[in-house]
Amino acid sequence: MIDFSAPDDFILGATLGEAVLSLQGAELDVELNRILRDVFGHENVAYVRRSFKANDEDVSVSRYVSPEAYYVLSGKKGVYTEDDLNKLNFLAELTAKLFNSKARLDTRFNDSTHAQLLQSQILDQIHESVITMDLAGFIISWNQGAEQLFGYAAAEAVGQNILFLYENEDIDGLCFPDPFLERGGREMEVRRRKKSGEVFWASLSLSPLCDASGEAIGVIGYLSDITERKQAEEKINYLAYYDLLTDLPNRTLFKKLVDKALLQSQRNNAIGSLLFIDLNRFKPINDTLGHQIGDLLLIQVAERFRLALRENDVVARLGSDEFAVALIDVNQDFHAALVAQKLLSSLDNPFQVNGNELRIGASIGISVYPQDGADADQLLQKADIAMFKAKRNVERASGSYAFYNQEMNQTIAGRLYLESGLRRALQYDEFFLLYQPKVDIHNGAVIGAEALIRWAHPTKGIISPVEFISIAEETGLILQIDAWVLETACAQARIWQDMDVKPFRIAVNVSAKEFSFALPARVSQALAHHQISSRWLELEITESMLMHSAESVITIMDEITALGVTLALDDFGTGYSSLSYLKRFPINTLKIDRSFIQGIPQDQDDCAIASAIISMAKQLKHKVIAEGVENSEQFNFLKQAGCDEIQGYLFSRPVSADKLSELLIKNFRFNVL
Ligand code: C2E
Ligand code: MG
Ligand code: MG
Repeated sequence: MIDFSAPDDFILGATLGEAVLSLQGAELDVELNRILRDVFGHENVAYVRRSFKANDEDVSVSRYVSPEAYYVLSGKKGVYTEDDLNKLNFLAELTAKLFNSKARLDTRFNDSTHAQLLQSQILDQIHESVITMDLAGFIISWNQGAEQLFGYAAAEAVGQNILFLYENEDIDGLCFPDPFLERGGREMEVRRRKKSGEVFWASLSLSPLCDASGEAIGVIGYLSDITERKQAEEKINYLAYYDLLTDLPNRTLFKKLVDKALLQSQRNNAIGSLLFIDLNRFKPINDTLGHQIGDLLLIQVAERFRLALRENDVVARLGSDEFAVALIDVNQDFHAALVAQKLLSSLDNPFQVNGNELRIGASIGISVYPQDGADADQLLQKADIAMFKAKRNVERASGSYAFYNQEMNQTIAGRLYLESGLRRALQYDEFFLLYQPKVDIHNGAVIGAEALIRWAHPTKGIISPVEFISIAEETGLILQIDAWVLETACAQARIWQDMDVKPFRIAVNVSAKEFSFALPARVSQALAHHQISSRWLELEITESMLMHSAESVITIMDEITALGVTLALDDFGTGYSSLSYLKRFPINTLKIDRSFIQGIPQDQDDCAIASAIISMAKQLKHKVIAEGVENSEQFNFLKQAGCDEIQGYLFSRPVSADKLSELLIKNFRFNVL
């Protein structure tokens, strides 16, 4: 009997176990024989692989180990001892048990490898690529489908993070573990990159990879290439939404885009316009020169329209010789007229088509959102009607345009008339300046004058700046106009300086557009050019300028005041700046807006506002001037409230330089008693 409490016997059991479990075939035979001889200490024992033969019993004892193997003790009793027999019995029994266990393990092992083999064969037979990864996105398995699709062998892919297949832009916003694990599988269309670098469309469905307890331990991804389907879809999409001849959006897409943009405009309270364009004289060209020439002409027209528009504007071909343009989020309806003009101008030059020089014009109808309609359909319909209006009045060779709304037609026409007139006015010197005295409230002395522009229009007479300054600002002409005013005011100051008039400040209005980093240099140049002291000049700016970017505004202001030119804040009270906010700006004078003076003394609110502005301005050490003072009640109230200066019809309307000269020469004082 082996005594397992004895270390030697325990080692024997372990050695035997290890031999049976780890070796097989001839190696096992040799090891078992070695162990037997070691245990018995003689050569009469052996491990034999053979079937049982009865006659051997005479000379030996056999003990079953497995159906094909026995332990054999050679010789008759006497050659082996009783102890030998016991050892043989026990060893045979132990070895047989070990053989049995091993056989059972082998069966199980074979079953599972077999199953695995089957599975990987199935996976490899699937055309789709099947990839498994852990929860951090590291690839665990990669089938043949994946090898074929991506071009990476399993050995290259397994162990890498799945992100290496993503197209760069997809990586942002990706998270592992994916939230889908909680919700179950899902399908999507994604873009992935092949080993060759090619990016393709794939349909991807994901499902969780779970362990035996049902816990998600990873993700199984099934991918298939859908590039062809995508391309087909794109093609169908293109056919449905684009005009094949010109590559422009067609009517369907146009309406979709417009409706979408209008929704946005609605939220921003913005306006928009639709232009319906119908080519003039296209039909005769098409009929006489043939469709091929007609088509080529349309392509060129489309190209010119596209070039004339901004990127955000939508241009479409509605059919035959009809086009449409959508201008969304435009600040002024006026803009649509400018665009219409631009489109017409783009047709001015003749077209060269297959050796033919062709001229073509257009009629453009304009509808405005929201007043003419709420959606693309309504707006298109109105613009179409307006187009017929335009057809009737062919103003120029390239055509004309008309608004659906009659009133709009008139105001726009008026504005455009003024706009073209303004350009001419600059050229032909049609502007002149009037000067309105600013009067010291205590002694009636003229302490300054505001230069106010007037336009001597050749047919309409004198036009007020109220009518043309805003148009000049929209069209950018204001820069030239304000530059002219500054020059003219300085030239006038020089005349007064030469007349030995005591310097007083000539106030020049500066539009917000002109208030830029270039202004200080322009002011100093004007002073230098006319050789006048900076004591002659003051700039009037409006509150809205302070709102933009305070820091850069302060820099510009500092540069101006450093020249010795003072700043006055015009139309004060109409903007939103609080008085304390004003402290930050180097402003000399606040000009209370005329609208608050008008109601004095009857309107309590106006009185209160004017008084408040005056007293707070005093605390902040600003001077205060009231503009638009027309009567003595207003004057008395303002004087009482502590106002420093007065400007208004009570003392003088804006007058010519000559008229003002007369007063100045006499050292004239207005009656302030
Ligand atoms: P503003 O700078 O506030 O000029 C004061 C306006 O009030 C002037 O109108 C002036 O004639 C008018 N006014 C003065 N006293 C009285 C009065 O007692 N009663 C009434 N009812 N009105 C009075 P004007 O000359 O028509 O100028 C209007 C606006 O046009 C100016 O307002 C100014 O913003 C702008 N403007 C005038 N000249 C220029 C210029 O040269 N450049 C720029 N950018 N804007 C100018
Ligand atoms: Mg002013
Ligand atoms: Mg004003």
